[in-house]
Amino acid sequence: MRFEVSKVLDAIEGRLSTDPVVARGVVDLAEVLRYTDLDAGRPASLLRLGQVVDALGRHLGEEGVAVYVVVDRSVLSDSDLTSNERMAIRRWADDGLVEVLPSAGDRVFEVAELTGLPVLTRREAGRWLAPVPGGGGAVLVGTAAASPTSNHPALARIWQCPEPECALFGAQRQSAQPPPRMRSGVPSCPRHEQRLADRGPRPPSVALVVRVDGIVRQRFAVGAERPVVVGREPAEPSAVRLGPWLNGESARRISRSHLRVVVTRAGLEVTDMSTNGTVLRTAAELIRLSRGETRLIGDNDVVVLHDGVELARPGRWRSGGVADPRSVMSDAPTVAIRMPR
Ligand SMILES: [Zn+2]
Repeated sequence: MRFEVSKVLDAIEGRLSTDPVVARGVVDLAEVLRYTDLDAGRPASLLRLGQVVDALGRHLGEEGVAVYVVVDRSVLSDSDLTSNERMAIRRWADDGLVEVLPSAGDRVFEVAELTGLPVLTRREAGRWLAPVPGGGGAVLVGTAAASPTSNHPALARIWQCPEPECALFGAQRQSAQPPPRMRSGVPSCPRHEQRLADRGPRPPSVALVVRVDGIVRQRFAVGAERPVVVGREPAEPSAVRLGPWLNGESARRISRSHLRVVVTRAGLEVTDMSTNGTVLRTAAELIRLSRGETRLIGDNDVVVLHDGVELARPGRWRSGGVADPRSVMSDAPTVAIRMPR
């Protein structure tokens, strides 16, 4: 059973991001892991985070949604959690997948305000999306939609924490940074509570989504220093792998590394790397790209790798297209998850 719990925690890990461009909601872990009515189980359980991730996926109608998790440091020593769960949270913190703070307080609301993401909480039901028990798992109730991303000047800079090993603002993280914590107007590291040094302008980052057969499967960020390869089975570590979602025909026609997207001075660019080519669908025309050819992707353009396998900015499609996304809990041992009737 322990092995199965680890698999669920691994699945949850794949849905954590402190990159505001990738995350779809903000969560206070100390609060969520004590929603005992979600499964009538232990006083605290990390698996409840998985239920909230699932609820967000159903709410948005998307596969693979990610959450921005804020963790009060006291959670790391919460004896209501298993040692396995505490170890997982520590690992996530070390990898910069979650944000651990000496005092989480209202940091979730600050992150929401700076990023435009909704908070998944019961603390202010109505204004926010509250995860509550529903048929077949947690559901989100409330009215908050994602607001437009704020243009706070602190988000336009790259920041450096005095702690060189800092997972959020350390030397290793010069892109995809979380929003800094504003303490009396001074950008600070939420984890180390120290003033951040300004390292210059932040390169622009653009969100893209992959849609296969009408369903949004994955959201990812493209930056100026972060070209992303998309294909059936690309070798690059940070690439987008379409393989699992393709059928016979599309799997044959789409190359292992099919195309590359990157933000340049001119804008968002796509370069074809494939055998069978890529189509850029604009309002006016279809542009066929062959290997080595590069074009700018306009705000409403769609990049087509093969019929039904598409790439575009998130606003291009109103719905994620799926009523029941794949659950991160599907590997959960049934003994740990008793759904309320
Ligand atoms: Zn730090």
